Amino acid sequence: MSQFHVLRIGHRPERDKRITTHVALTSRAFGASRMYLSKPDSRVVTTIDEVVAKFGGNFEIEPLSNPRKFAKNWEGQIVHLTMFGLPLEDFEDKLRKEQSPILFIVGAEKVPPWTFEYADYNISIGNQPHSEVSALAISLSRLNENYVDQKFGGPLQVIPSGDHRKMIDTSR
Ligand code: SAM
Repeated sequence: MSQFHVLRIGHRPERDKRITTHVALTSRAFGASRMYLSKPDSRVVTTIDEVVAKFGGNFEIEPLSNPRKFAKNWEGQIVHLTMFGLPLEDFEDKLRKEQSPILFIVGAEKVPPWTFEYADYNISIGNQPHSEVSALAISLSRLNENYVDQKFGGPLQVIPSGDHRKMIDTSR
C-alpha cells in the first residue's frame, strides 16, 4: 500500500459521478492506493474496478458512512486541499520527508468546518477556485515525484508514441 490516500467528501451521486470518478483515476495514476468516498456510489466503484482490471495496480475505493469520524481517527497526516489554504510550496519539502500515511481531503461543494479543524495542513494550489482533480494532481505529482515510474502490471500497457495510439494486451 502506498503512503498516499484520498478522502473525497461531499459527493452528490446525482451530479458528481464523473468528477468523483476523475478524482479516483487521478489518485490512482499519481500514486495513491485508496480513495475513501463519503457516500456510496457503485457506479464509480464499477468504473474504477474496470480500469484496475485492465491497467493494473492495487487501487481501491472504500465507501464511508462517517467521513468526519474517519478523518478524526486518521493515524498519519491530513492535508486538506482548499483554495483558502497556505501555499503548497511552503510545505512540500516537509511533506516529502513525512513517513506516516498522508490523507488528502478534497471537497465537491463548500466543505464542513471539521475539514479545516482536523487537517494538519490546509493547503492551496494558488488561491483561485479551480477543481479537486487539478488540486490533487498537482499535489500528488509534487510529493510523489516517482509517480511516472510506477509499475501497474495490468494486462493493458501503453507503449508511448509520439504519433499514434499504441497499446499491448499481455493477456492474449
Ligand atoms: N468555493 C468552494 C469551497 O468552498 O471550497 C470550492 C469548491 S471546489 C469546486 C471543490 C474542491 O476543489 C475543493 O473542496 C478543494 O478540495 C478543491 N480546490 C479548488 N480550488 C482549489 C485551490 N485553489 N487549491 C486547492 N484546492 C482547491
